[in-house]
Amino acid sequence: MVLSFGNTALLAGALLASLLMASFAHSDSDQTPIGDAVKDLPLFDAHVHYKEPAWDEYPVSSIIELMDQSGVAMALVSSTPDEGTIMLWEYAPNRIVPELRPYHGAAGSSNWAKAEGMEDYLAGRLEAYPHEGIGEFHIHRLDTSDEPLFRKVIQMAMERGIYLHVHSGPEPIRWLYSLDPDVKIIWAHAGLGEPASEVHALMKEFPKLLADTSLREWAILGQGENLDEEWQNIIFDFQDRLMIGSDTWVNGQWDDYAEIMASNRLWLSRLPRDVAEKIAFRNAEKYFNREISMEQIGTR
Ligand SMILES: [Zn+2]
Repeated sequence: MVLSFGNTALLAGALLASLLMASFAHSDSDQTPIGDAVKDLPLFDAHVHYKEPAWDEYPVSSIIELMDQSGVAMALVSSTPDEGTIMLWEYAPNRIVPELRPYHGAAGSSNWAKAEGMEDYLAGRLEAYPHEGIGEFHIHRLDTSDEPLFRKVIQMAMERGIYLHVHSGPEPIRWLYSLDPDVKIIWAHAGLGEPASEVHALMKEFPKLLADTSLREWAILGQGENLDEEWQNIIFDFQDRLMIGSDTWVNGQWDDYAEIMASNRLWLSRLPRDVAEKIAFRNAEKYFNREISMEQIGTR
């Protein structure tokens, strides 16, 4: 009797599970755009800089207020110099994921890999602060004589399980993977200079490559009611590997922060809810092992 009751319960359980799975499958395939409900999603801004020229005009409290006003719950921040990132992170540790930008003093985007003492600088900052990435850095032109430094950079990242955030074309990305196929890379702006077809090809070539879409919002939006077709394919095919971003590389981007985030919400509003949620914040939750919600707005 007990046994047969157990079997019935098992059967009922299995039936319930299959019903649940069917309803999940159904909601997964719901292609209705999320529309206005996108305004209720928290955003993760994967491409913030808090550079020295911003510090006076935009004190740390004002940056968090700008994030609050646009529903940006968390941000991945790197700065020239790194002190900017640390100031922001110390002010609002629950809102900021810090990453280490190599640029400081005379070391900038075109010469950082040859700057004296770079390896020690990076090692020291990584030791002192809980950075979760190295970048955003540029590789304007691939110079394979920089290999020894890049091997060290990769090693520092791998030891900590953190990302490289790389602004480059496809060739340096291929080169970094050739140095270590397991290196974790976020491709800044999904390359920026590349047309959508090349973005798709590189994302396909490297199944673990992540990308932020900062500065790409207008290309993605395209003309008219629908998203640009090629970008829409990138978004659907690689929906688990994308994050939005603002790229506050000059103060003008902070001046326009609300508009930049609104244009990101606009393209997200044209996606099914599950895809929009991934790109707005769920992918970042996974990559950075955080919980991201609207409850963070107004807190620090
Ligand atoms: Zn940037």
